[in-house]
Amino acid sequence: MQTNFSLAQLADPDVKVSEKILRSCVHCGFCTATCPTYVLLGDELDSPRGRIYLIKDMLESGRAADSTVVKHVDRCLSCLSCMSTCPSGVDYMHLVDHARQHIERTYTRPLPERLLRRVLNLVLPRPALFRASLYATVLARPLTRSVARLLPARLRAMVELAPARVPPAAAGDRPQVFPAEGARRARVALLTGCAQRVLAPQINAATIRLLTRHGCEVVVAAGAGCCGALTHHLGGDAHGYARNNVDAWTREIAGGGLDAIVINASGCGTSVKDYGFMFRDDPAYAEKARAVSAITCDVTELMNQLGLQAPTQPTGQRVAYHSACSLQHGQRVQREPKRLLAAAGFEVVDVPEGHLCCGSAGTYNLLQPELAGQLRDRKVANIARVTPDLVAAGNIGCITQIASGIAIPVVHTVELLDYATGGPRPNNMPP
Ligand code: SF4
Ligand code: SF4
Repeated sequence: MQTNFSLAQLADPDVKVSEKILRSCVHCGFCTATCPTYVLLGDELDSPRGRIYLIKDMLESGRAADSTVVKHVDRCLSCLSCMSTCPSGVDYMHLVDHARQHIERTYTRPLPERLLRRVLNLVLPRPALFRASLYATVLARPLTRSVARLLPARLRAMVELAPARVPPAAAGDRPQVFPAEGARRARVALLTGCAQRVLAPQINAATIRLLTRHGCEVVVAAGAGCCGALTHHLGGDAHGYARNNVDAWTREIAGGGLDAIVINASGCGTSVKDYGFMFRDDPAYAEKARAVSAITCDVTELMNQLGLQAPTQPTGQRVAYHSACSLQHGQRVQREPKRLLAAAGFEVVDVPEGHLCCGSAGTYNLLQPELAGQLRDRKVANIARVTPDLVAAGNIGCITQIASGIAIPVVHTVELLDYATGGPRPNNMPP
């Protein structure tokens, strides 16, 4: 694609990166067929190619974002399905990230939208605040149920996605070291995260049991916390969160050493693997961030290297594996989770249209509830087609989204691997 940026514009390192990305697009349109919003809406401007043209025009002109660009960029899930399909290797992720930052800098959203985004930005990355807001939602649920139809769609989506009960905080999420069982094979840091540890603390607990059982010393590093993905996807500046994590893990690397930084929420994994890019122009952090990203892996990548112990519990249930977009498209981790589940004795089945997002996408299901609802219903119908006993996924956002529309249990892949090799049975798991 031809571009016409001025030399002055290209002096901005972000514009320079975006120009290179834009030039790699040959506008073939292959990506449109696998874009969830194009599949739903059939509008070129809601396809990757259409958005690329809108972003190019906005950045080249140097104009403030207008409502048309904002509408179509906001509808993008950042699912990155287009990157898996694109034959030219267009780095859509960094292009849309740049567009979102430009929008937040130059466009004034209506007041309710600004307030909602501020609240999400404030609450979700802070576990104590998020837990308190969930308690409030649970208490208010009888009231909100009776007036559910009258609530604005976004508020209704928040109420519907909140869990029926809020689990207590887990002691294992605090900074500490969990020793390896038997001979130590690796020393790894686990990102215990923010929203996931509030919604489903059993996922970190299962991860720690699984890794220590397989010879890993697991460190929950002091100072590590939210990866910044939620803020980043809202177009905000996530460098503060990322810096905290880089500092915390750099101290561990310099201290006891780390063989890996393990992530069990694939949305976070995609972000931490991108820290090297985020800090590419920061002399104080570039090298440290690159080192952190280089040893970051999804928990299933590490388990695949370690090799799963033979199952000690009866398994065999039919598991529909939902491949989270951030895992399959963002990190290109596709085979490992299924291979591990099969090694654990489960019958693993693929979900039809598995490349399409479930509609969770960070805060997308709260900000775009209608489209997210359509994608969830489509995903649930596709899952029902393969008649599984349960669903496994590697990302808390997908687990929450799919569970809100389906009666069978939706669990994290590590919960099943932990159970099969000696851990407790996941909640509601069928015999
Ligand atoms: S598939 Fe790639 S090259 Fe083709 S239009 Fe889409 S982004 Fe551009
Ligand atoms: S990231 Fe997903 S929703 Fe956005 S343009 Fe690409 S395929 Fe479409």
